[in-house]
Amino acid sequence: MEHISERIKAMSPSATLAMSQKSNELKAQGVDVINLSVGEPDFFTPDHIKEAAKRAIDDNFSFYSPVPGYLSLRKAICAKLKRENGLDFAPEQIIVSNGAKQSLCNCILAAVNPGDEVIIPTPAWVSYVEMVKLAEGKCVLVPASLEQNFKITPEQLAAAITPRTRMVLLCSPSNPTGSVYSREELKALADVIAAHPDILVLADEIYEHINYTGEFNSIAQFENIRDRVAIVNGVSKAYAMTGWRIGFLAAPLWLAKACNKLQGQYTSGASSIAQKAAEEAYVGPQDCVEEMRRAFERRRDLIVSLLKEIPGLKIGNPEGAFYVFPEVSAYIGKSHGGHTITTSGDLALYLLDEAHVATVDGAAFCAPGYIRLSYATSDDNIREAAKRIASVLAKLQ
Ligand code: PMP
Ligand code: GLU
Repeated sequence: MEHISERIKAMSPSATLAMSQKSNELKAQGVDVINLSVGEPDFFTPDHIKEAAKRAIDDNFSFYSPVPGYLSLRKAICAKLKRENGLDFAPEQIIVSNGAKQSLCNCILAAVNPGDEVIIPTPAWVSYVEMVKLAEGKCVLVPASLEQNFKITPEQLAAAITPRTRMVLLCSPSNPTGSVYSREELKALADVIAAHPDILVLADEIYEHINYTGEFNSIAQFENIRDRVAIVNGVSKAYAMTGWRIGFLAAPLWLAKACNKLQGQYTSGASSIAQKAAEEAYVGPQDCVEEMRRAFERRRDLIVSLLKEIPGLKIGNPEGAFYVFPEVSAYIGKSHGGHTITTSGDLALYLLDEAHVATVDGAAFCAPGYIRLSYATSDDNIREAAKRIASVLAKLQ
């Protein structure tokens, strides 16, 4: 007997994880695949963080952790928010979760009622729409084109707001485009939101430290909306800790309490050992963050320069995260060796089959006509991937 709920039937699987799995399967069969699909740092977790986890095991951090996270970790997160973002949060406003993904989902489930509208600028990360669907909310997608560097304007935001708007979901630096909103751009969006007191902002800042503009800005800095901004961040990207699964929500107290209740029934506190490692990430030396950021910046320069040489790929100006998001419509309608390219999804499959390079279809980010490449990989892989991509794209007639 199979009886899958409508809720799960209506859900699309994560395209980023699916493509990565496909690429790993091909690798296991002996195919020399370069995986530019999943977005995760290729660096090892820094040693001082690993040591803290080992100590936590020896010190018997083996019991249930408090549902919202250890107080010491929440205090370390408050100190981080003060030090790096100039924001005042109390430990009661912090909920530590199983990765930023759970923090986002908690917040959406805790704040969105069936039929409530959630404004999502697109291109948008694969999981936002599915999380809003899970809450039975209605996604209002606001497209931002390559010409506007994938950033929505205040006019677009104002036009998307209705009396049913409950939440605006912002991601900067952005997955999948790499765009970074400046202070002025965020202020203009905040000013629009300020006129609508029932709207909550969910700011996904997981790529805060992978930023090449020299300045990170949180939308929570603006007084006129500060008490309505929930920040999601975590250790996955900045400290190369994707597998440890620690993220956090910093939110108004009422929302933090609601997420605490949800998490208490759903997953309990996040892994005790991983929390102790995350605490060390926040209180320990920070040079590792800058070292990795510099490596990503060098790779960004490399991949952008190589892909710009390929005719048919249109590339914007990615200023953060570790993705490039070229527009590929020049290849639509072309074919080669049994492959006919009618969508960007076909092109991603063609690149996998013919070049053995795994990318992700832009459609998964609500932006068909594009593909996403993650450059969180070695310079050699980037060079080889670009060479292979150029060669198989040239065959399309
Ligand atoms: N938000 C964005 C934009 C992401 O790219 C990711 C990466 N998976 C997440 C949230 C989730 O991060 P985590 O791995 O900490 O759950
Ligand atoms: N954020 C990464 C990505 O977009 C990890 C995969 C996922 O969680 O979707 O590739």
